[in-house]
Amino acid sequence: MSKTIKVKNPATGELIQEVTRHTVEEINRALENGQKGFEKWAKVNAHERSRLLKAWSQKIQENKEEIAKVMTMENGKPLQESIGEVNYATSYIDWYAEEAVRIYGRTIPASSETKRITVSRQPIGQVAAITPWNFPAAMMTRKAAPALAAGCSFIVKAAEETPLTTMTLVELAYEAGIPKDAIQYVNGRGSVVGQLFTDSPFVRKITFTGSTPIGKALIKGSADTVKHVTMELGGHAPLIIAEDADLDYAVGQTIISKYRNAGQTCVCVNRILVHENVVDAFAEKFTAAVNKLKVGNGLEAGTDVGPIINEKGYDKIVAQVNDAIEKGAEVLTGNKYEADKEQGYFFVYPTVLKNVDASMDIMQEETFGPIAPITSFKTLEEAVEIANNTPYGLAAYFFTNDYRTGTYLHDHLDFGIIGWNDGAPSAAHAPFGGMKESGLGREGGTEGIEPYLETKYLSVGNLLN
Ligand code: NAP
Repeated sequence: MSKTIKVKNPATGELIQEVTRHTVEEINRALENGQKGFEKWAKVNAHERSRLLKAWSQKIQENKEEIAKVMTMENGKPLQESIGEVNYATSYIDWYAEEAVRIYGRTIPASSETKRITVSRQPIGQVAAITPWNFPAAMMTRKAAPALAAGCSFIVKAAEETPLTTMTLVELAYEAGIPKDAIQYVNGRGSVVGQLFTDSPFVRKITFTGSTPIGKALIKGSADTVKHVTMELGGHAPLIIAEDADLDYAVGQTIISKYRNAGQTCVCVNRILVHENVVDAFAEKFTAAVNKLKVGNGLEAGTDVGPIINEKGYDKIVAQVNDAIEKGAEVLTGNKYEADKEQGYFFVYPTVLKNVDASMDIMQEETFGPIAPITSFKTLEEAVEIANNTPYGLAAYFFTNDYRTGTYLHDHLDFGIIGWNDGAPSAAHAPFGGMKESGLGREGGTEGIEPYLETKYLSVGNLLN
């Protein structure tokens, strides 16, 4: 295996930088180092941990423009989106800097006058994280920040497509004063690093964001040493437009949800379900809005939709669109491509498909691209049945101003994140995560620090009464 990883710009195929691929020995040494780091970091008082996290957030903000540029070059997303992601990434650090000083225990009334029962929380140990390429900053900080706040040490392996943003963030943590053995990164192939992480006696928790098959493999790999796991996995988000919805508003929110990061987000809408009485009107307005989106290099001003990350992702999108067309879907716009497999760039133009149905792959699998398939429904029950008919349960959206329709949909949709008249519900202060095969655990909010803490129960007996 090559000693370096070539990081390329997916908009041009150009080499940006070569980074060291760490050897097995180096990774094992880092894990041992992280264990020693944990023993020291766990003893740093919560107020100091909080202060250091705030200093880290500030360093990132001071370098925001540069980080965003690197992110756009390695990931392809428009520069404004990269700036937005850096802000989103620091919002997790800011939130967990505040949570660090609120890790409370409790006292439980005992059933005997001579006993006292207390419960305290302690950090779980070293946490090993594996992150995807689609949000190279935020997927890392929403794991690192609660881990460090809780007193855990942290080691991360970023996706091979996008290691540069992660490396920069870790270097800035050192500049902020966080010890070098409390937070570390390693670079390498997922299958190799993943196994070293799951096998290591120095790791107490695996936290992963990525595809469902890899998540399942990591859960299995963690079983032998009974490691804790948090899994943020794939999605297949439905977006339901009720008959009474404000269509113009819904179009704007659907564009945000569908086309951010060229549709390569786990929570982006993957299936648009519209009431049969408004489906034509919605499709017309939506297509008009999609036609205004500009495709291009994320570094160029005005770009709305950047490239697809790699050939594998591109091929999957093209195959899904062709499958849908063969089975009778109507193309309202798009189905246009600009790619060069030799050079290594892949653009997919925003595409809208109508008359899709359950026989098509696009309605069964996550797309991870700028394709919007539209289907219609007659009743709310039917919409819920279509929406829930998937092994995934990450995010769902609906648009209605009728409180009875809204509460019915909220109550019946089996998804961890629900946007009601909201196409962008993610926030550091809210619990993000999925049901069913979309994952285990939550990141963000007060829930997001829990997975990094052990509960220790103390019962003291024979006390003086
Ligand atoms: P992926 O193939 O699962 O890769 C994600 C990470 O896992 C990368 O760092 C990758 O490393 C690593 N990896 C690959 N094989 C591995 C193995 N055998 N053991 C351990 N790690 C391994 O996913 P992706 O295609 O890059 O990302 C897209 C997926 O992530 C989508 O399914 C999306 O829905 C999901 N996602 C979920 C969330 C969420 O919060 N729920 C957020 C964002 C994305 P390499 O560098 O070797 O590829």
